[in-house]
Amino acid sequence: MAEGQIDVTQEQENEQQTPARKGVAPISTEVRAREGGRGASSETVFALEDVHVYYGSFLALRGVSLDIGRNEITAFIGPSGCGKSTLIRCFNRMNDLIPGARVEGRITYHDQDLYGDGVDPVEVRRRIGMVFQKPNPFPKSIYDNVAYGPKVMGLKPRSMDELVEESLRGAALWEEVKDKLKQSALSLSGGQQQRLCIARAIAVSPVVILMDEPCSALDPMSTARIEDLMEKLKQDYTIVIVTHNMQQAARVSDRTAFFTAEAAPGTGDRTGLLVEYDRTDQIFTHPSDKRTEDYVTGRFG
Ligand code: ADP
Repeated sequence: MAEGQIDVTQEQENEQQTPARKGVAPISTEVRAREGGRGASSETVFALEDVHVYYGSFLALRGVSLDIGRNEITAFIGPSGCGKSTLIRCFNRMNDLIPGARVEGRITYHDQDLYGDGVDPVEVRRRIGMVFQKPNPFPKSIYDNVAYGPKVMGLKPRSMDELVEESLRGAALWEEVKDKLKQSALSLSGGQQQRLCIARAIAVSPVVILMDEPCSALDPMSTARIEDLMEKLKQDYTIVIVTHNMQQAARVSDRTAFFTAEAAPGTGDRTGLLVEYDRTDQIFTHPSDKRTEDYVTGRFG
């Protein structure tokens, strides 16, 4: 995300403060059935067909078609401004929170139109959680950070203490914080704060976790811990990650999508587009497009 753009984190936080909407049935029962349990990794979670994203009249991203596989890590790479963050925000309708942002084309989640009539974006964001570039814990205790989501979403866990512990264990943070759960989350290191944000995302039982450059503000040790954690998380979740770090994409992801920005026909605006999408080893060792090869070999970008 470039400077001066709208930070959707705050909007998400504000939105979470509204009580869960009762009686809304945003996701069909067939989708619920398909979401449950662990699936074969070839199963498609999201299918995108000819997706275009606009900010006002500016076409930021054009013609993206791709599928995201279940229990896989999919990495989005490409030079700054090619629309990676714009695209990842489409998966949980975060762009809805940006005035003027518009998504065209079709995005399905387990075959259901994610932008269809009657789909509740708040419910979408519970299933499809997001972790941001800069760790953004609430100025509350470690415990309350994790318990907050389930509370405002009206989830009724058997025991909140157990849910908090499970979520912190899931984010590989429990051992470091179990004796100081009432301390402020802001007292944690940057790497711990980011794992707390992952615990917070896990606490509302998501199906997918979106990560927008989750390590770019972290030191190499903390980055390695998050990467190890991602490898574990993919047993239970589908993960999509935007990263500027090609080595990171090569290390952690199963599939990689390479994007670039080129002048759009007609307007001449620099518009993002998907160049190539394949198994990560293929993208890094035998890319089929010269633009991908130039980027992954460091000749461009
Ligand atoms: P990347 O994540 O690849 O760096 P972005 O998705 O942040 O790219 O940006 C893609 C294009 O969309 C850029 O030209 C950027 O300036 C523009 N853009 C991104 N967010 C906004 C926004 N909230 N409002 C207006 N333009 C935006």
